[in-house]
Amino acid sequence: MKKAIYPGSFDPITNGHIDIVNRAQSLFGEIHISVIENPHKSPLFSISERITLIQQIFADRPGIYVEGFHGLLVDYAKKKHISTIIRGLRAVSDFDYEFQMALTNRHLHPEIDTVFLMTDEKYSYLSSSLVKQVAKFKGNIDSFVPISIARALQEKYPS
Ligand code: ADP
Repeated sequence: MKKAIYPGSFDPITNGHIDIVNRAQSLFGEIHISVIENPHKSPLFSISERITLIQQIFADRPGIYVEGFHGLLVDYAKKKHISTIIRGLRAVSDFDYEFQMALTNRHLHPEIDTVFLMTDEKYSYLSSSLVKQVAKFKGNIDSFVPISIARALQEKYPS
């Protein structure tokens, strides 16, 4: 079965990310959602909270694996013998950064390719940071994230 890594901060995972996982799995079969432990970002959810929340969402989905990683993505991919990285594209604004990152990764490990998947247009404006902002001020996030994530956000921002 073909395998791919879908890396990201997922702080927290949103319906936009889930849309990309679903699209990626129809192409690759086995998707390894890799949660980045990024020392430059101070996440709302710890790495273990983010992993657990994602694992719960995909608990009954064969072929979806969730794990954390730190360090260089391409080294991690190589260690796992996976040569495809999935990234989601929302608007043109994502492109510059993603293009730079994909070419840097190719420079480091030419055998690893990045595949970009376009999100459903209804998620094209959705981001984890927007969801956190709305949740913080008690706005309705039910159409942005699964119910388990909405609950976890409520616990982070108690009234
Ligand atoms: P990172 O810090 O690596 O950008 P994110 O969790 O923000 O981590 O995003 C992980 C990946 O998911 C990125 O490729 C990003 O473009 C994509 N992504 C984020 N939000 C959406 C969305 N609403 N629809 C589709 N892809 C998305």
